[in-house]
Amino acid sequence: MSTSPVTPASPCPCGRDASYGECCGALHAGRATAPTAERLMRSRYSAFVVGDTAYLMRTWHSSTRPPALELDPAVRWTGLEVLATSGGTAFHTEGTVEFRAHCVAGGRPDAQHELSRFVREDGAWVYVDAAE
Ligand SMILES: [Zn+2]
Repeated sequence: MSTSPVTPASPCPCGRDASYGECCGALHAGRATAPTAERLMRSRYSAFVVGDTAYLMRTWHSSTRPPALELDPAVRWTGLEVLATSGGTAFHTEGTVEFRAHCVAGGRPDAQHELSRFVREDGAWVYVDAAE
């Protein structure tokens, strides 16, 4: 399986018009915090792309965070579409982001559609769970 290495100068995997180093990379490195639930969601998607499980764990709400996280090496994430958001701004304490994440799983194109819930925990946006 081939993986495309993401460098700070790469286009950010989350799809925003910025380099990884300026966008999600700054969040992964702890140089910035996500101002909105959507940015946090995008940075978590990018964390799946670059395999940053530590970032995924620390942006997971303490009540729903799994004890450990192992990424499936057979899944390669190939693109993110944010479909809708509610709340989740500097003026909110809760928000949702509906998205479709594209991947190749075991050599076959696939996609995951999810409505994720986010809240602020100690002032920072964190992922809670996926609402149905
Ligand atoms: Zn990004």
